[in-house]
Amino acid sequence: MAKEKIVPAPDADSKPFWEACRDHKLKFQKCAACGEVRWPASILCPQCHCRDARWIEASGRGIIHTFVVYHQVFNPAFKDQIPYVVAVVELEEGPRLLTNIVDSPPESLSCDLPVEVVWDDISEEFSLPKFRPLPG
Ligand SMILES: [Zn+2]
Repeated sequence: MAKEKIVPAPDADSKPFWEACRDHKLKFQKCAACGEVRWPASILCPQCHCRDARWIEASGRGIIHTFVVYHQVFNPAFKDQIPYVVAVVELEEGPRLLTNIVDSPPESLSCDLPVEVVWDDISEEFSLPKFRPLPG
């Protein structure tokens, strides 16, 4: 059982996010008062404490804010993927997602590199947003 990968555990706030992911869409709450696009999903805007928000669809593009290459097996479920890249991607809309960079050799990556979302369908229920460098 230690070999199980960690799967998302949606709560009431994040359920719409994960439902959108299943449709290969990145959706975030945008505050009705100050316009802050927030992540993680929450009942209140962290900037202005307004409760009113609507869900917007993000472009799926952003830049690598920071990243690390994993060479050690910390979880046996990931041992076939070594080395893999864990990154914080800053989306055009503002939110920063903790994610993986895929489809690219780790040594080719750098901070501020433009990336786009790709979908990893891990089950019928869940698709994980991951990112790859934009072509060119
Ligand atoms: Zn706000």
